[in-house]
Amino acid sequence: MLSISEIKTLLATPQKIVITTHHKPDGDAMGSSLGLYAYLIQLGHHVKVITPTDYPYFLHWLPNNSDVIIYTEQLEEAAKLVAEAALIFCLDFNSLTRINQLGELVRSSDAYKLMIDHHLEPEDFDDYRHWNINACAAAQLVYDFIVNELGDAARMNKDIATCLYTGIMTDSGSFRFASANSAVYRIAADLIDAGAEHWRIHQLVYDNATENRLRFLGHCISNKLEVLREFNTAIISVTKEELNRFDIVTGDTEGIVNYALSINGIKLAAFIIERTDKVKLSLRSTGDFPANEICKKFFSGGGHRNAAGGVSEKNLEETVAEFKSILTEYKTQLLQ
Ligand code: 5GP
Ligand code: MN
Repeated sequence: MLSISEIKTLLATPQKIVITTHHKPDGDAMGSSLGLYAYLIQLGHHVKVITPTDYPYFLHWLPNNSDVIIYTEQLEEAAKLVAEAALIFCLDFNSLTRINQLGELVRSSDAYKLMIDHHLEPEDFDDYRHWNINACAAAQLVYDFIVNELGDAARMNKDIATCLYTGIMTDSGSFRFASANSAVYRIAADLIDAGAEHWRIHQLVYDNATENRLRFLGHCISNKLEVLREFNTAIISVTKEELNRFDIVTGDTEGIVNYALSINGIKLAAFIIERTDKVKLSLRSTGDFPANEICKKFFSGGGHRNAAGGVSEKNLEETVAEFKSILTEYKTQLLQ
């Protein structure tokens, strides 16, 4: 394992650096990555952010977004950058399977691998780890890495602050989850002082929907919501045909599961969606109910206790039926 002083020495001269983050990056994945990017370019490093896949349009306004390389769209360029990198930062994930084919390239690279993450059960592939499951966002840990570990608060600027604020805001449910403690609010205040325009960031992320997305949301709530009171569970499932009918693109389905969870008394919500290659599940829960346990045990996935995801090789109908049958096992916890 590298010590922080060894990292400081490495960062003292210009290096080739890759920053990567998880499949279908969300606000925290892109916010933490582009926040760290904006810091490292100030030090004169050659830096690239490589995402395994595309990501939502409501994140494309982030500073330096045009410098991001999407692996699936630029395979050769991405592979070359990973092979030549001296350092690879892995942000907002801790298992190489979370970055698809890019995972094997990272594994076989000679670069030092630096993990900055807040998920449970990290895989052992890293040479440095700034990891804390109590952090509300990877962006919070990137802030901590720059300001406290590297002691470089002087280099905080508007671009870094804007990106890190976005990551913290999105992963903390706009500062409403328990993980958003007073320390998080202090960091947010510091980021606002450094130039993050909190009102503008909120608007760009949350008030940026297409008309299609809103009509699709209406369709999901009016026609697709199933409330299973006997399990305090609500399910929304959607077919490929519906996604096509509403012209749904990456990002449009984000957050829909939270509407199912907002019904009073509902402890577990599932958004189950038929993608081109497989069926994807997004689970959200309240209190102590372990949504990640269901994803890990039955759907080759994982996540946090109250927000988790996974996939199924079965078709949509069978996946919904399997999910419902699993609920019996958790009935006592769901009815508590
Ligand atoms: P979402 O429902 O927004 O796709 O994901 C919620 C959380 O669950 C993510 O922050 C991530 O931690 C986790 N997650 C989602 N999908 C997967 C998956 O396929 N595998 C694992 N290990 N975690 C996932
Ligand atoms: Mn995160």
